[in-house]
Amino acid sequence: MLPLGAFCYGPLGHSVVGAIADLRLQQNKKAADKVSQLLDGLTLEKAANIPDSIKGWDDCGGDPGQYRVAGSDRINAEFRAFVKANACDTEFDHHQFHYTDVPISGKEKYKDGNIGRSDRDIVHMIAYCIRVLGNKEPQPNPRAITKTVAIVLLTHYLGDIHQPLHVGAEYFDGKGDPFEPTAGNKGFEDQGGNKLNLFTYVDGKLRAQGKFHSYWDTKAVVGAFGATPIPEIAAGMAQTEPKKWKLTGNPDSLAEQMANEILPIAREAHSRLVYSKVKIDDKTPYITSGRAAEKVVAGQNSYAGWSQAIVKDEINKAGWRLSAILTALLK
Ligand SMILES: [Zn+2]
Repeated sequence: MLPLGAFCYGPLGHSVVGAIADLRLQQNKKAADKVSQLLDGLTLEKAANIPDSIKGWDDCGGDPGQYRVAGSDRINAEFRAFVKANACDTEFDHHQFHYTDVPISGKEKYKDGNIGRSDRDIVHMIAYCIRVLGNKEPQPNPRAITKTVAIVLLTHYLGDIHQPLHVGAEYFDGKGDPFEPTAGNKGFEDQGGNKLNLFTYVDGKLRAQGKFHSYWDTKAVVGAFGATPIPEIAAGMAQTEPKKWKLTGNPDSLAEQMANEILPIAREAHSRLVYSKVKIDDKTPYITSGRAAEKVVAGQNSYAGWSQAIVKDEINKAGWRLSAILTALLK
């Protein structure tokens, strides 16, 4: 079982994605009205963190009871039904909807293999939500994803799929060296960087930054935006068209396109580091712990500076894409 809350852009990153989309949606009144109606007036900015908040609702088999998140009584009832239908002791565990773990060693794209992927991963779940909004899934459906739930999940998962460690993972062999896993030797995974401790240079000295995964969820985001208030960040980004943000093709393929797009960044997020002290627990598919330290390469910007620039760019793209996808499905 994966630790609760360990696998997501922190609240700030998700809120900014939602806030950018709230502003961009205003360009199509019909879509904006439809979203507002389906969310009983809740903004995407406020909805963006619900899929993380509900992670504490089900203690595996437990009843969601009367837990509440932001939003109306109807939205809360729909999320309790969603948690019940995708409980953490079932194959469709909603905690796993937030990521996929494509090996970053080698050059695999999402569809090139199956290690780390599943039909309940972020790529499949974004596609599912898009199908719900496009009337391509029955209502009700086995995942209990209503149109309201689909909008909230999409708002959150679009943020997650633009976080490189939600898509790419490192795998280690039995000696603790990084390698490309195969069907016959799946190796030991770092859980999207959650099992590695990151060290980066601060004022010329290597400093502990906590878990590699949460660095990208939180520290890089806070480093990128500082104390700027969310409305100010979102207003600037909603007016700044990101490069190469437009996606084309079948709505069902969009999630896979986004996963493939971020994989090279996930590779660089790892290739800028050097691993040591990687410990294996051969009773599990995971490493136990390890150290990932910034490599110093002459002429290359710092890990902090590079990751913060990536985060800004990816969050901006996620916000623009969320608004475009909702507009196309609800206009
Ligand atoms: Zn998440």
